[in-house]
Amino acid sequence: MSRDPLVEVENLEKHYPITEGLLKKQVGTVRAVDGVSFDIGRGETVGLVGESGCGKSTAATSMLRLEEPTGGTVRFDGEDITEYDDAALKRFRRRAQMIFQDPSSSFDPRMSIGESVAEPLRIHGLNDRTRRRAVVEDLLERVGLSASDADRYPHEFSGGQKQRVAVARALSVNPDFILADEPVSALDVSIQADVLSLLDDVQSEFGLSFLLISHDMGVVRQVCDRVNVMYLGEIVESGPTEEVFGNPQHPYTKALLSSIPRPDPRKRGRGIELTGDVPDPSNPPDGCRFHTRCPAVIPPEGLAVAQETWRSLLDLRSRAARGDLDPGALADAADEPSPTPALVREAFDLPDPLPDGEAEATLAAALETAADGDVAAAGERLVEAFPTPCARQAPERRRVSPDHEATCHLHDPDLAPDHGDAYGIGVAEND
Ligand code: ADP
Ligand code: MG
Repeated sequence: MSRDPLVEVENLEKHYPITEGLLKKQVGTVRAVDGVSFDIGRGETVGLVGESGCGKSTAATSMLRLEEPTGGTVRFDGEDITEYDDAALKRFRRRAQMIFQDPSSSFDPRMSIGESVAEPLRIHGLNDRTRRRAVVEDLLERVGLSASDADRYPHEFSGGQKQRVAVARALSVNPDFILADEPVSALDVSIQADVLSLLDDVQSEFGLSFLLISHDMGVVRQVCDRVNVMYLGEIVESGPTEEVFGNPQHPYTKALLSSIPRPDPRKRGRGIELTGDVPDPSNPPDGCRFHTRCPAVIPPEGLAVAQETWRSLLDLRSRAARGDLDPGALADAADEPSPTPALVREAFDLPDPLPDGEAEATLAAALETAADGDVAAAGERLVEAFPTPCARQAPERRRVSPDHEATCHLHDPDLAPDHGDAYGIGVAEND
């Protein structure tokens, strides 16, 4: 597929040091953005979507060099902006505009709307007041407001109207690229669609390249030509919007999709529910970062239990291995005098006994060890008895179709020949 990219992000990385004490000794690293690559064609609208905390905003500010990336390159119109000096950066900033989530804090309450919209023009050297005013009035009308709104103040506008003003301000310097970070998340659901269709309209009218960041799959579906799905600092799936929505090829994408409310609940497919919190980016899980929450995580060869049970076993395995399991607390909560294997089993929703005899023997022994107070030994035992390639090695990014890629072991024929079938993953395209 021949796209002519305006923006090319390659292996973008933003790590924040975690420091401690007066001497600011570095004790860790937050891997907020950890090797992200994608591009945006001219006149194309691309989405970046993922749960809160996965690194979307950090990717945004780093790719515009509002903060310095710690690695990778960003090419804009063929030039590496990570090499830019201040003057070049100022010219770049005119061509690349940003729209933020919170329309209320985007405007100085003492400045009229007209002054706010004209500010980028002034900064970039348009000194003629009359001309500035003409540009502002024209822009306000283009975003669905009226020319006379220029003399009003931010408090007189609703959130949706303020976001329209933000669009006008971004357009004022005639940019090539607009990056909107959660532009409708702070707005009432009833007006989100209006603001999105405004963004869609100005994008095509001005021929802009557009990056839309959102935690909401429904929002990106409405306007994006292509989508990148982000999880814990990495992109796990990317492709044309229809393909990613019609034939998602990463269990995380599937989970995000099943959380979109559907008008008709009877048409809701077998949704994959996402449980647990996003892990801490200062200590990402080994292997595939999603394996600690993935409903489709690959089981050990020959393990004869239901997938949900395997998921629960792996939860127990991870918690015990991290030392994050407290059988004593479970006993207290249940008002029992002392910890028991049964309480731990119950807490993890594990059937008694497991249908697989060998697995049951291992589990019973590990639960006994944990209840006796040696959680670390129980963890080691479980890790050894219940291996998964998902925790052992990081998956590669693989092509599903010419322009659709996913990073999941279910696509590796050597690791999981048939396991993905139940999820419609790793199989030939269905429609
Ligand atoms: P998103 O926009 O997807 O919600 P963010 O990019 O805001 O995610 O944050 C990604 C991760 O980076 C989070 O864990 C956040 O706590 C961390 N983070 C963001 N900014 C900083 C910072 N200045 N210092 C340390 N950690 C940060
Ligand atoms: Mg954000």
